[in-house]
Amino acid sequence: MSTDASLFPIHFFDCNIFCTRCVQVKKFKIFSQEKYDKNYDKSRIPSHKPLFCKCEDCGGTVIYATNEFSELQEEPTLELCKIWGKGSLGAGDRVFHPTEKLCMIENVNRTYGTTMPQITLRKQNNEKVDVQVDFKEIFNESSTDVFYRLFPQSGESARIGEKIYHTEMELTGEVIGLEFNEGQKLIVKFENGDIEKCLCKSSAKYLTDKLLVLNAQWRCRDFPYLRNLRIYSRSKVLNISCLVQNFNSINELDKIISSVPQARCSIMHVVVEKSILNSIDIYKELLKNNVHICCCHVEHRNQEVYITGFYSAKDTPKNIYRALSKFSIKKINLDIKIRPSVKILKTINEDNRFIRISKMEKRYHIDGWVKSEKEKRKAILKAFFYSFSFRIENHLLVIT
Ligand SMILES: [Zn+2]
Repeated sequence: MSTDASLFPIHFFDCNIFCTRCVQVKKFKIFSQEKYDKNYDKSRIPSHKPLFCKCEDCGGTVIYATNEFSELQEEPTLELCKIWGKGSLGAGDRVFHPTEKLCMIENVNRTYGTTMPQITLRKQNNEKVDVQVDFKEIFNESSTDVFYRLFPQSGESARIGEKIYHTEMELTGEVIGLEFNEGQKLIVKFENGDIEKCLCKSSAKYLTDKLLVLNAQWRCRDFPYLRNLRIYSRSKVLNISCLVQNFNSINELDKIISSVPQARCSIMHVVVEKSILNSIDIYKELLKNNVHICCCHVEHRNQEVYITGFYSAKDTPKNIYRALSKFSIKKINLDIKIRPSVKILKTINEDNRFIRISKMEKRYHIDGWVKSEKEKRKAILKAFFYSFSFRIENHLLVIT
């Protein structure tokens, strides 16, 4: 079972990563399973989701997780600090000092007439020390804030693209890759040009791939499709293959697998039992479950469901998953947008027909289904009486 590129259909971004085949930093294309936006609201990119990364030169591939890239983090400098003597310093900064170690800058005292200020550092035990600044960079107005991750101190949570400071070698560098074979290693390109693999010193026991699989299997012991389940782990990425009956069991499996400690992310190769199901069945099920989507379009193909439209009730996405959980569906792709202005004017549910007239901004929409083209045309007239508007869009399905 190899990682299938077709499981990652979306080109997400490009990134420079160390390629173990080319043995140098190369441009990689990064592919995701879901659509994420790294230019807008990064807090909406979930962590521990697999990304398929492919070297543009040799075609070699590697899996990284969403939380392992610095540029995908909402606050990329959160755990990082400044380094004494490198770049600007200001009150409130966390700084690594060669002898005082990790400190907070309490105060910068600039005395008139002297060129170098004195800085009050607060150490981690709250003790305060005054230190005379002995380097010039601090006055460089144009120098921007640069933040570093300390290695080995917090090396375990290092991300690709972060600046790093090796406190034992007293060298800066950049994280260009991560490795998870028999211990966690950072691949670092140091300021002198050397590329080295640095082994993290972990406080917790490092769980091997074998242990992760045993743990995952144990957690799945009550899963109803246990007999159809295969699990393997490579570099702490869990690969799951399973034959299940419905969408609900996929979610259940997903929940169990994501609870396995130290697993970086998981890749699901799920096969759902075949069934006779069409877009209309799914559309009807949504309406039966009081899911209101204006301008709604539902499509079912290759065991995946695609839903587009607009909604106003906050719980709508959750209710869609719930309503469809019993169906043999592999994935639900939602492209629905919240519009608080969506209002239902009238619902007609009789004789196996369903008509809902709703208003969104200045337009009126008719959703539902009827029995003939004639009924579909007549629905416009109905909508007109509720709206007294000609801006009516008719999305009714004709189900004979
Ligand atoms: Zn390569």
